[in-house]
Amino acid sequence: MSINEQSYAYGASKSSIREIAAYGAARKAQIGAENVYDFSLGNPSVPAPDAVRDSIAHALTLPATALHGYTPANGLPAAREAVAKSLNRRFDTAYDPSDLYLTCGAAASISIVLNALCNDGDQVIVIAPYFPEYAVFIQNAGAECVEVMADETNFQIDVAAVEAAITSSTKAVMIDSPNNPVGAVYARKNLEALAKVLSTKSIEFGQPIYLISDEPYREIAYGVEVPWVPDIYDRTIVCYSYSKSLSLPGERIGWVLVPGTNPEHDVLVPAVAGAGRKMGFVCAPALFQRVLIDCVDEPTNIDAYARNRKALTEGLSRIGYEFVEPQGAFYLWMRALEPDANAFFERAKSFELLPVPSDSFGCTGWVRVGYCVSYDTIVNSMPAWQALWDSYQ
Ligand code: PLP
Repeated sequence: MSINEQSYAYGASKSSIREIAAYGAARKAQIGAENVYDFSLGNPSVPAPDAVRDSIAHALTLPATALHGYTPANGLPAAREAVAKSLNRRFDTAYDPSDLYLTCGAAASISIVLNALCNDGDQVIVIAPYFPEYAVFIQNAGAECVEVMADETNFQIDVAAVEAAITSSTKAVMIDSPNNPVGAVYARKNLEALAKVLSTKSIEFGQPIYLISDEPYREIAYGVEVPWVPDIYDRTIVCYSYSKSLSLPGERIGWVLVPGTNPEHDVLVPAVAGAGRKMGFVCAPALFQRVLIDCVDEPTNIDAYARNRKALTEGLSRIGYEFVEPQGAFYLWMRALEPDANAFFERAKSFELLPVPSDSFGCTGWVRVGYCVSYDTIVNSMPAWQALWDSYQ
């Protein structure tokens, strides 16, 4: 074939999460939306704050050329300044607006960072189960995705397993806390242990190993600390987006932060800019850059997710399901009632329940139940979860 075979393969094969969501939409059209319990997508069910609307309304009063014109490739200085100020206030840091590169969401942030760091043949370690697009982004950067299973007793990072997987080709470890798909939040001690290993191995191999901290769910945590990772490991690069915290997934706005405390900061900042340039990921949506100036400190409303989480965990444990108590994000990780999660999913589907089988996330035997849905969906799905359970007894 004369076209890029890898691109063809990614486009021709569908994401299984999207496929389940498409099935859910078709099924809702057939039998009524209220009769299908679709827990597949991570699309926030909480509306964006009113302040976002107000900010957009205000932006529309600007002259069109100013409003819709190009911004600098790395984003409006005022938007980067607003983000830096907010981070400095929250985490007692001293970041400069020039440490930030505004992006089209976390997907672009991750792709930019991987392309800034990796050369062909490098390895990037991910903690399984993991967001499936990580593998796509890593391969696109010419690197190999190395899966290291989390500690299956609590789904924290299995630091000894990461240590064992590090080679002279390891360029970075990628983490995501609060975690999709498991809902775990990595404890400070766990991150400190990881940092120690990465520091030791960087010295042993005579080259830096970076920590890419993908944090779109940072603000969605239920009473647990979400440690600021650059304070724990200085070779951290943070990828962020407002897709979940401000419920703006369709607007594509986020950032990359190369903290000034990162020892390679002065080469990483141009490398990030260059990766953005190479991929054409320049000038994030100007309207939403302006929204950041006004809304960067808007609190994330997690009340609805907390209520859903309570209803879901109480309902499922009453029936007898085993799951990981979610500490953050809006996903519940539940053990399938048979070893083959795909077979379990097919059975669940026959009860109009649509979780996502764990094979999509790089491990077997579990399903992800996304609870960023309406409260009624959770409550009304309980008889179906009960019937599914009963069918296995
Ligand atoms: N990283 C994780 C862990 C995610 O769950 C998602 C989206 O669901 C992304 C990155 C991509 O986020 P964005 O929509 O901001 O590109």
